[in-house]
Amino acid sequence: MTPYTARAAIPFFLSPLCDDPDLAARMTRACADVLRSGVYVLGPQVRAFEASLSAMLDAREVVAVSSGSDALCLALAALGVGTLGGGRADDEVMLPAYTFVACAEAVLAAGAQPVFVDCGAGGFLPSLEAHRAAHGGRTRAVLAVGLFGDASGLPALAAYCRMHRLWLVEDIAQCLGASCAAPGEPARMAGTWGDAAAMSFYPTKTLGAAGDAGALAFADARHARQARLLRNHGHEANEHLCLGRNSRMDELQAALLQIALETFPEALARRRRIASRYLAAWAAVPGLTLPPDHVGHAWNYFVVTLDSGVHRDALADALAQEGIATRVYYSIPLHRHRALAAVHGGASLPHSERLAQCSLALPLYPALNEGEINRIVDILPMALRHATVAAAMTARSES
Ligand SMILES: *Cc1c(COP(=O)(O)O)cnc(C)c1O
Repeated sequence: MTPYTARAAIPFFLSPLCDDPDLAARMTRACADVLRSGVYVLGPQVRAFEASLSAMLDAREVVAVSSGSDALCLALAALGVGTLGGGRADDEVMLPAYTFVACAEAVLAAGAQPVFVDCGAGGFLPSLEAHRAAHGGRTRAVLAVGLFGDASGLPALAAYCRMHRLWLVEDIAQCLGASCAAPGEPARMAGTWGDAAAMSFYPTKTLGAAGDAGALAFADARHARQARLLRNHGHEANEHLCLGRNSRMDELQAALLQIALETFPEALARRRRIASRYLAAWAAVPGLTLPPDHVGHAWNYFVVTLDSGVHRDALADALAQEGIATRVYYSIPLHRHRALAAVHGGASLPHSERLAQCSLALPLYPALNEGEINRIVDILPMALRHATVAAAMTARSES
């Protein structure tokens, strides 16, 4: 057994601000500067942050907004998909069934129709075949989600969209910093494959603000210009050129994000080191399937899937008993939510439904210390044995 130097309990997530006093002090000073500046929304901090993000994303045009959810909606509108952006109400957007609800909300908020695509048999991301099966005559765009930090689906989807003249919108809320490559080609960052990319800086994401914030990156400067209008009521030079919304980023978040960007490469490297530890330590542990380990994975979340003999709640309880918090992403696939069932109809998407039953996210974030990592590594196999016994006992008492 490895010696423990852990805090009493290991939270599912801890902000680096709570872990690093120097970082907290720098951010506090940056906030004070913004407060004294008298400029609080869409000012010099936001412009500087947009420029830094653009430099990271292959010089794409970056538009900072108020959240990842708004970024998704404005991405579609800026591309002219759905009624908000001047498109048609029956414009269809393909998106995964197994993802965060904001993806479907954004399609509907943009005035378009979501079409849910099932995961492949062997992972969290929908396959190209599943997209082909869902592709119809009104399909205008693909929303590609880099779920849990895995951007590996992007090259194939980018090629598919090019061939079929569909817009590709990347949802990189969970995979900012990830990279991937088409066969035989150099790797490229997530966010540089599609026509538009939507980012979230919600605190738990790979680049976290101290509140809500998001951004867009575009291949075409005309789409970026449209998004700039839409995020601020269509306002330009004392006129409203179109109707939009209030999706502006504030100066405080931009100032904090500028500081977070400075240590972003180290934060990503730390996420990757922790994931490597987990993958190596649990490679032969019975009862669970580890997440696919693609080159360039950003490891926003470390999500395992449990074999049918393992009781998920019992495993989460056993880990909680040891002070290790877990979370379920996502317990209901989008097409099974009451609010979205009418949009989808009754058809089964079996792989998404199975994952919703058997996936469990374990703590993985840069502020985890070595003692905590060792503790998680050691406790998981033990908790799994416990949850497997619990499942056997439940099965016996039910028969
Ligand atoms: C977090 C997230 C969003 C929404 O971002 P917010 O900033 O919380 O609005 C969208 N899509 C995915 C995949 C996410 O994880």
